[in-house]
Amino acid sequence: MTLPPAPLSAEKNLELALARNQAILNQAAVGIIRISSRGIIEQINPFAERLLGYTSAELTGHNVSKIMPQRWASQHDEYLASYLAGRPPSIIGIGREVSALHKSGQVIPVHLAVSEVTVPGQDEVEFIGILSDLSELHRSRAREQAQHALLQVLHKGMTDFPVLMSSDQLWPFLKEALCSLTESDYALIGEVIPVNDRPSMKILAITDLSWNDDSRRLMSSLSSGDMMLSNPDSLLGRVFAAGEVVMTADLASETRRIGFPPGHPALHNYLGVPIVDQGAVIGMYAIANSRQTVDSELLARLEPFTATCAVLIQLYRSINERERFTRELEQAHAEQARASRAKTEFLSAMSHELRTPLNSIIGFSQLLLNNRKQPLAERQAAQAEQILKSGKHLLTLINDILDLARIESGRLSLSLEAVAVAEVVGESVASIGALAAARGIAISQPAADGLSIFADFTRTKQVLINLLSNAVKYNHDGGSIAISWQVGGEGRLRIAVRDTGIGIPAARLGELFQPFNRLDAEHSAIEGTGVGLALTKQLVEHMAGEIGVDSAPGAGSCFWFELPLAADSLANLESPARPADTPAPGMQLRQVLYIEDNPANQRLMWDIFEDLGAWTLSCAADAGSGLRQVKVQRPDLILLDINLPGMDGYAVLRALRGDPATRGIPVVALSANAMPDDLKRGRQAGFAAYLTKPLDIAGLIAVLEQHLGERDA
Ligand code: ADP
Repeated sequence: MTLPPAPLSAEKNLELALARNQAILNQAAVGIIRISSRGIIEQINPFAERLLGYTSAELTGHNVSKIMPQRWASQHDEYLASYLAGRPPSIIGIGREVSALHKSGQVIPVHLAVSEVTVPGQDEVEFIGILSDLSELHRSRAREQAQHALLQVLHKGMTDFPVLMSSDQLWPFLKEALCSLTESDYALIGEVIPVNDRPSMKILAITDLSWNDDSRRLMSSLSSGDMMLSNPDSLLGRVFAAGEVVMTADLASETRRIGFPPGHPALHNYLGVPIVDQGAVIGMYAIANSRQTVDSELLARLEPFTATCAVLIQLYRSINERERFTRELEQAHAEQARASRAKTEFLSAMSHELRTPLNSIIGFSQLLLNNRKQPLAERQAAQAEQILKSGKHLLTLINDILDLARIESGRLSLSLEAVAVAEVVGESVASIGALAAARGIAISQPAADGLSIFADFTRTKQVLINLLSNAVKYNHDGGSIAISWQVGGEGRLRIAVRDTGIGIPAARLGELFQPFNRLDAEHSAIEGTGVGLALTKQLVEHMAGEIGVDSAPGAGSCFWFELPLAADSLANLESPARPADTPAPGMQLRQVLYIEDNPANQRLMWDIFEDLGAWTLSCAADAGSGLRQVKVQRPDLILLDINLPGMDGYAVLRALRGDPATRGIPVVALSANAMPDDLKRGRQAGFAAYLTKPLDIAGLIAVLEQHLGERDA
């Protein structure tokens, strides 16, 4: 059995307490100071010696105010007396953050807790102060605050960039921020620009450090950017020219320092940092007379500032570049507009001058040709005819060129309104009719369908006449022209003029619509000026439209243009009352071609189709032009008279069946031959239906609906 340890003697207990006390005093990582009730330091531990920079001998016997900054020291004795007189304490038994004074004079933040030591039966009290060093805590708090302030600056620089830029405040703002972040008296930010292949610096913002008139002038030309710095050996030059970080905590000892002129404010520390982007120095900033330590830690802390400056300088450059480009563009536009105005004025003056003599040429040649009293000899008449023709040609050219010039200078006035398509097409066809008839060219157009476009009537007619006259000029004798229209995308109507002419090679399509480019037609007998299509395109585009062409040599051309639909036509198209699956009026209307030589029968069919309003009709007067038109127009159904002159309906059907391109089109025979044998022969030949004259309209409609689909009720 083990016995409990024998109790220690009173002497041993005392020894142990002293040893414990000594261990606390010597090894504690806090400063411990014992002072008397009169504020005299009686004892300090080794940690307090290190913290305050004094030896124990230097402090013991001195008033505790020796280790307090002036502000505290002056109040201390008073405070102690008032505490001892029984007033409430502010430190004793509570503990708070105060400042201590190091032997070197430096103020140290400390936490001080004071305990009162009383011994029973004794009046005198003692105090024990425990000091914890808060320097590191303060330093890291300050670092955190500085980091936060820096982030705020960068955030503002980035987010308010457009506003700061437009008010020329970006660089002054950053310069000010740099001063306050680094607690410096002076700062500058500059952009590096090569001048004669040497890096030079343009100041973007700088603290004014002028001291007399000369230095004020220098300062103002530096800050306005009029003056650039280029000396590579200066304190700044080493940064912007060599890309060096120049850091001096003590400028006076700097051996490479360039002497400052008399009057220059004294600079004691300096930090110059290059701003680098993709290996190139694009700018720099510098600070001087900072109240912070200028060292690599400060440099590291400023790294985000440096990187942000790089981004901002690049942004600033690209904006300046864009502004310069816009200015140049505006100048070029103004120049172009001036030139264009001069050209238009010249052309209108010229055209006026040309019109006057032309008036005589055209007028007198007509008089000569129409002179009944003294008719011209045949040869003379032919010559006068030539004069008249050339005069008219010249007049067209002048008018076209004048129109083009007017458009280019923005002086074309349009009167936009709802224009009935059938009407403008009808008038244009009538104008070109004689020209087409003279060459045996048939023109077909759809029946009126009530569709309107929003356009200028006269200019639309001009567009159509230009396209139609080309379709005649570049066509073969006896050819045909088919006009069609249908609703396209974006609320537009597409009007197409398809011819059976010479066509245009794909490689040359890009040259169309260029003024005076005739695509070699100038070497042919076909007259022209090469201005018509250029003008046509401009007119269409000025009416918010678009023009285009599909063509191939030998296969004819199809010139089309699109113009906006008038509001009422658009509304009709969009009307919800119309079932979704039936086409709107004119919308992809299925096309029917009627080949019939008898005008009265044609007239009847026009009227029937006009009443139906469901499909588009076009007519051809004989087998030849009918077959040509089928190729151009690709109708959805053909109504074919059997008794055609020259080539009868059966031969036409055979021709259609023989061509893979037309084989699938249903052909309905219309014939006065109504004997049972005729009907049987018709069915055997392959007609889709055989209708007899006089026509049973209900029967016709049934056949049409069977092949073209139900029409709108
Ligand atoms: P031009 O006065 O020469 O007819 P345009 O500007 O009207 O001038 O047409 C330019 C050129 O485009 C014409 O010279 C011709 O070569 C070609 N061209 C225009 N329309 C057609 C067409 N329908 N078929 C074939 N070529 C055409």
